[in-house]
Parts: sequence; structure tokens; C-alpha cells
Amino acid sequence: MENVPQDCLDALRSGFQFSFWRLRRSSIGKITLKTAGQLALTTITTFPGCQSILDDPFQLFDGMYHIDVVDLVAESSDYDPEGLFCWIPKLECFAAVDPEHGDVLTFPSVTWSAIVRAPVRYLEAQWSVSDDGVRVLPWLHFPFRINNSDLALSPYPAHCVLHDVPVAEHDRKRHSMFDAYRDRDVDAWLHESRVSFPWSGIPATETILISCKGCFDAEAAWLQRIDDSIPVLDARKNKGGFIQCPNCGNRFSPADLFSFVDGMHTRCGQKINVLEREAEQ
Ligand SMILES: [Zn+2]
Ligand SMILES: [Zn+2]
Ligand SMILES: [Zn+2]
Repeated sequence: MENVPQDCLDALRSGFQFSFWRLRRSSIGKITLKTAGQLALTTITTFPGCQSILDDPFQLFDGMYHIDVVDLVAESSDYDPEGLFCWIPKLECFAAVDPEHGDVLTFPSVTWSAIVRAPVRYLEAQWSVSDDGVRVLPWLHFPFRINNSDLALSPYPAHCVLHDVPVAEHDRKRHSMFDAYRDRDVDAWLHESRVSFPWSGIPATETILISCKGCFDAEAAWLQRIDDSIPVLDARKNKGGFIQCPNCGNRFSPADLFSFVDGMHTRCGQKINVLEREAEQ
């Protein structure tokens, strides 16, 4: 069955179950493991933006992560068994995938015999604050598929065929208005991304971007063209000192450094020339 470790398969084949006595006081509660014959490769779909380590790069897209797993739990008295305790062939490790919240907690290098020796430790790890297990960033490992399309935005390959260079980690910084410019027309970005910069960048950490240099530069040029195409529009302050963005209609104070930076509305990227309030007659 995929690459599930042989000792785990052998145990399930002989009807192995974790002792209810050991699990009864744990967070996972009573579970029944599958038999070897019941094992199958299935796909868990999760929404983007659900896990808390880093901002999800695909948060605003209408799509899902597709995580292939071999579920090991047949029944659970307290939870939906999907993902509860599983094997992830792609990562070659046992794991707990929370389909509702998108968390993927992996147990790298943890053997079946280690789990049998201390099942509670691993089976309840997704509810505990212990550091058993590693939460992985789903976009680094699993396909993120746009709904009703064949487009997958991840995972990134090791090599960009388009530019014939490696896709690797860099401390590159995108255009400061990247989010706003992409969000102005997500379909345009998706289209351009597919054609000219499929691997322009996904975060590995807060500061490290995984990208192809060619894709990154092509996207930067696309962002610059958008920047150049945005005209400066006037907006006049009201009594309270607020302006209304002529592009998105949002109201904000130009003194608010989260909303207005370098003459731009951070939410939509509109360039705004702020006019003082006209003197009352
Ligand atoms: Zn959760
Ligand atoms: Zn490239
Ligand atoms: Zn705006």
C-alpha cells in the first residue's frame, strides 16, 4: 500500500488495535484502526489560509489543497476519522491532517514501533501544545488547485522549464504593492502567471521566498506595468479629515500609515493626491 512501512502493514494485517484503556483519557478518544485490506489512497481537500504558521500565499484564491493520504483510522467515537491519523506517501511519514482547519501535523522519522510504544503522544498531538510533530506549510508540498480549472499553483518544482533555471530559496522581496496589485485583477494575475511566471514565489519563511529568478523578474515587470498604469486621482478630505478612495470607495484617514503609504491606498493600490477641505463659506 503506497509506501506505508511494512511493520505497520503487518500489524494492521493481523488486526492490531491501540488499547482503548490507553486511549480513553486522551484527546483522541476511542478509535478503531483499519485492517490492511481497508487501506486506500484518498485525497483530503483543505481550504487555504487556515493554518497559522505563515500567511497563506493562496488565501484569496478560489481553490483547495489536495493532500493524498492513507487513512489509518476506520472509526472514531469523537471525530471524523478523515486525516485523524494517517500516512502521507509524499512526505513518507505518519501525520494528522485536520480537514476543517487545514493543519498538517507531521511526524517525520517517527517509526511505527515508536507510535506503538507511546500512541497517546502522537495520536493527541494535534490538540496538545507539545512539540511532538512538525506543522508543514501545505503550499510547499501539496497541489493547490483552482476550482473549476486544471490550474495548480503549487507545489513548486525544483527547476523552471520556462527559464531553465533552478527554483530555489532566496531572500527576494516582492514589490511592496504585490498583494494589492494582484488583488485588483486576480484573473489577470492567474493568466499571466500561467503564461510567463508560474514560479514567481511562495514563502518558505517570513523572509525567504522560493522562486525562479526568471519568473520573479517577469512578475516584477508585470507589477511595474500595473504600477505605471495607475493614474493619480484626487480625493478631498472631509470634515473629519477622511478621504474616500476614488478606486475602491473605502474611507480612511491619509494619516493612517496602514491605509496610506507613499501616496497609495494600500488596500487597492490607488495613487491619490489628497486635497485639503475647501474653506467653509
Ligand atoms: Zn483544527
Ligand atoms: Zn521561471
Ligand atoms: Zn482604494
